[in-house]
Amino acid sequence: MDRDLLYRYAKLVAEKGINVQKGQPVMIDCTTECFEFARLLTRAAYEAGASEVFYNWSDDGCDREYYLHADDHAIDTCYDWDAEKYNSLSRAGVGFISVAASNPEKLKGVDPKRLQRHSIAVKERKKEFFSRTMSGRCPWCVVSVPVPAWAGKVFPDLDENSAMERLWREIFNAVRVRRGADPIDEWNRHCATLSSRAEILNRYNFKSLHYSNSLGTDLNVELPEGHVWMAGGEKTPDGVEFIPNMPTEEVFTAPKRHGVNGVVYSSKPLRLSGNIIEGIRFVLKNGRIVDMSADTCEDILRASVLTDEGSQFLGEVALVPHDSPISNSGVLFFNTLFDENASCHFAYGRAYPSCVKGGENASADELAALDINHESNEHVDFMIGTADLSIIGTTHDGDKVTVFKDGNFAF
Ligand code: ZN
Ligand code: ZN
Repeated sequence: MDRDLLYRYAKLVAEKGINVQKGQPVMIDCTTECFEFARLLTRAAYEAGASEVFYNWSDDGCDREYYLHADDHAIDTCYDWDAEKYNSLSRAGVGFISVAASNPEKLKGVDPKRLQRHSIAVKERKKEFFSRTMSGRCPWCVVSVPVPAWAGKVFPDLDENSAMERLWREIFNAVRVRRGADPIDEWNRHCATLSSRAEILNRYNFKSLHYSNSLGTDLNVELPEGHVWMAGGEKTPDGVEFIPNMPTEEVFTAPKRHGVNGVVYSSKPLRLSGNIIEGIRFVLKNGRIVDMSADTCEDILRASVLTDEGSQFLGEVALVPHDSPISNSGVLFFNTLFDENASCHFAYGRAYPSCVKGGENASADELAALDINHESNEHVDFMIGTADLSIIGTTHDGDKVTVFKDGNFAF
């Protein structure tokens, strides 16, 4: 791996990703295997003016032992000190960096009910933190770097070193970090392109979108009154721009909670709770997922969809052209941060409140009145885009507009 590029990447995350302000604390969530990147992120954060950097370390191997052996009581508990750490840091407007890099199958064979129970305990107690990040009240950025178990899964035919080198190359490409170009300039240009696409969709102000392809997807998705297509960066209430995901290629909004009908098939495997789920099929009626199946790990999927009432409805509609950089790399990453940016996708679970006008400051009742899926502890993206995906939009005047033809934007 090229250390100079790695440092540029760390600077990009600190300066553009969370856009560290002078005197602002930063929190880094990272796995032990990525300590070198964490050190560079730390240096870059201090150079950008951070007052202090905090850490939350995790480890794939220790996580696995925990889920296999910890007491039932521990599995159902998120301790005060753990919850308060996140909740209070979010209250203080800290910038959160999360390095999503682990073995995609680290929890294979673990009882899915234990995964689900712990996830519910954590999300319930850290609600304040999740709600502040999801509504953009503090800056956050999810990024990734290779680890051997992940690289080996992505490139099974290469030896460990070559697989790591190759995954580094793919990640640097995806996050637009290269020699001879300023990554921040590249990102400014990229975000402008994404925003102009969002702008077109906002002008159409579609009433609904109809999806179909040869996998069998045949789904009608209504969009709420006042929905906003978003892309690239977001702004905190103080007007600080940050980029929640690096890479990002999507333009997204929220669907009407009760306005989704039909059937949808996944087009890529989904990494969920340390397992890989393939061949997902959802049937939706008046927004609710009323039937589901998967070719692998159906029990894990089912447990996640049935987390709470809101997780049984969609919360995100995202458009990504089939002809886009990550998709064209032909690499299946087994990591949603990358795979969702190579494919049109939906998420089940909570919607981003900023996907409706004034949503950041709206009350739960106001969001419910707009039929936004505002209340859930789950938010899981799953990929559905294919080379033959068609999306037809219907405007409020009843006009039909081709939005996607053969997997790509028609405009
Ligand atoms: Zn998305
Ligand atoms: Zn999402």
